[in-house]
Amino acid sequence: MSIFGDALLLDVSRGCRWGCLFCLGRRIYAPYRERDLSQLAEVIEEGMMKGGYEAIALISSDLCSYSRLEELLELVEDLRKAKEFRLIAPSLRADALNEKLLEALAESGEKTITLAPESSEDLRYRIGKAFPDERLLEVCKLLKRIGISRVKLYFMFGLPEETLKDLEAIVKLVEEIRRAGLEVRVSANPFVPKPHTPMEDEELEDLKSLKEKLKFLRRELGGILATNGLRQAYLQAAISRGDEKIGSLILECAKRYGRLTLTALRREARRMKMNLDEYARRGSEEKPWRRIKLT
Ligand code: SF4
Repeated sequence: MSIFGDALLLDVSRGCRWGCLFCLGRRIYAPYRERDLSQLAEVIEEGMMKGGYEAIALISSDLCSYSRLEELLELVEDLRKAKEFRLIAPSLRADALNEKLLEALAESGEKTITLAPESSEDLRYRIGKAFPDERLLEVCKLLKRIGISRVKLYFMFGLPEETLKDLEAIVKLVEEIRRAGLEVRVSANPFVPKPHTPMEDEELEDLKSLKEKLKFLRRELGGILATNGLRQAYLQAAISRGDEKIGSLILECAKRYGRLTLTALRREARRMKMNLDEYARRGSEEKPWRRIKLT
C-alpha cells in the first residue's frame, strides 16, 4: 500500500521542466522524460480491470507539462464510465495548472489539492519559483468553483535572507485563501540545502532562530500547521551533505544504539570527535557528491 492508499501508481513522467533552485528532484531525475500514452493506456486498463484498485495516482513531478495530458484524462474518463475510481494527483504548480485536470479530479471525488508556494512571493521568485500570490489566489478560487474545498500548502522557512516580513506574508497568504472559502492545511518545514542544487552552499539556519520562526508560525496559524520539526531538518541537513565520516558515524551509531535518533548521533559524534553541528550547518568541506556528475 502506498501513501496514496489502494491506488494504481501511474508513472506518467520523470524529471521536471522547471528550475527551482532548491530542488534536488529536478537534478536527480533529469532530464524530463514522458511515458508514451499508449503504454499508459495499457497499464491503466490492465491495472484497473485486473488489479481492482480504488484509485489511480498520476505520478509525476511536473504533471501539467505532460504533452498528452488531456488525452490521458479522456482515457481515464472513459474507463470511469465502466468502473468507479478516484483520480489522485501529486503536488501541482499553481502557475501551470490544467483546468481539465482539476475538473477530472473534482469529478472523481477528490476534495484536496496540494500546492507548494514555498515562501513569500518575494522569496519565491528568488528561489526560482516565479509566480505571484495573485496566481495562487486565482487557482484557489477556481478550485472552490469546481467543488474542491481543501488545499494543502507546502512552505519552507529559514531560507537565505528570510525576515519576519516573509513569514508574515505566508500567514497573510494563508488567511486570504481561507477567506476565499477554502479549508487550508499548511505543512511548513525548515529549508535544508541539498547537494547538486544551486543552493548547496547555503547554510542551514541556526536552530535557535528556526525555533523562533516555527513558534511564530505556530502562534499565527494554530492547528492548521503541521511540521516534521527541527530535529528531522537537522538530521537531514547533516546527512544530505555528508561524507565518508558521516557514513561511519551512522554505522557506529546503529551498532552501538540500534537507532538513528538525533540524541544518539550527537552522542556518537562527540565520541568520534566529529562536529555534527558543522555538518548540519554547512555540510562536508570535501563536498564528495561533486565527484558524481548528473546530467
Ligand atoms: S516544480 Fe517542483 S519538482 Fe519542479 S523544480 Fe520546482 S520544486 Fe522541483
